[in-house]
Amino acid sequence: VLDRGIYNFAAGPATLPESVLLKAQSELYNYRGSGMSIMEISHRGKEFDAVIKKAESDLRSLLSISDDFAVLFLQGGATTQFSAVPLNLCMPEDSADYIVTGSWSVRASKEAQKFCKPNVIWSGKSEKYTRICSFDEIPQTLDAKYLHICGNETVQGVEFKDYPNPMNKSSILVADMSSNFCSKPVDISKFGVIYAGAQKNVGPSGVTIVIIRRALLGHAQPIAPVMLDYKAHADTDSLYNTPPCFTIYICSLVFEYLLHQGGLVAMEKKNEKKAGVLYDAIDASGEFYVSHVEKSVRSLMNVPFTLQRSELEKKFIEEAAKEGMVQLKGHLSVGGVRASIYNAMPLAGVEKLVAFMKDFQARHP
Ligand code: PLP
Repeated sequence: VLDRGIYNFAAGPATLPESVLLKAQSELYNYRGSGMSIMEISHRGKEFDAVIKKAESDLRSLLSISDDFAVLFLQGGATTQFSAVPLNLCMPEDSADYIVTGSWSVRASKEAQKFCKPNVIWSGKSEKYTRICSFDEIPQTLDAKYLHICGNETVQGVEFKDYPNPMNKSSILVADMSSNFCSKPVDISKFGVIYAGAQKNVGPSGVTIVIIRRALLGHAQPIAPVMLDYKAHADTDSLYNTPPCFTIYICSLVFEYLLHQGGLVAMEKKNEKKAGVLYDAIDASGEFYVSHVEKSVRSLMNVPFTLQRSELEKKFIEEAAKEGMVQLKGHLSVGGVRASIYNAMPLAGVEKLVAFMKDFQARHP
């Protein structure tokens, strides 16, 4: 049901499931008979304790996260993890490998320069970030402490479909999964650390989820601020300080919703269907609409495309908005159009966009 009359294609903060918003609205004023809003309750009280425990256990069910891993609800956005990762996994003289597939992995690798010796072992820059290397193409650093990837580049729309193995046995795989978190099943056991800002697939902005192998805890650099030391948060079940209670509450409603939808296998099927409908429409447009990303790594979440007649892009975005399809403007740095079609975007929204694209093309022969 489309109650608010629009389809929201924002890249993040992004659209949330209607049922989650309505449930949050109904509980906002008086949380489950407590006489208080969840925003007014101590993070150490029994109500919030139940919220954060359920959020964690539902997320563990969704992603089949074993007890070898800690699940942390942190602040500072995924951007803060660009420093927390090297600060927890490296000493300043250690090296770490970065595969750079777009704007976010550029940022991650640059931030790491402050805390260790990152090597960019592959970059898609010269090809404008339109593909991902084959894994045997990349010479990994023998003694790298970890190999960092960005699972899905939100700006360029390239997504890893499988994952590289770090070459030496003591190294670990680290992934920024901010924009494809919980969009499909993931074999967590392949990773040392996964981090994701919530504001695309699982909630509002304000919380960053970190899934970290417990064996990696307790090795932070001495200069690491306590707020960036994973162990401090793991030891206190994410209650080292006041957490973003309301955001975690909304995430818990989203996790519950995803489980009711059939979990991540079901979500992946829905996401593949939606992305398929949109990419097919682009490919069938005779280059009126152009996707620049190599087909094998096209993102299921963020679909950037351009109009061959670029002078029509502004009109396309404005007319789409008038018809109730909003926030379709491409990222500032690359321009064009970007349709973000996260978990909460219904197939009907993508079908409406595709119908509009065909009509717009017909009106501009
Ligand atoms: N990584 C990816 C893949 C992103 O898409 C974003 C934000 O859009 C970030 C990192 C930065 O996240 P934040 O704004 O939460 O710091």
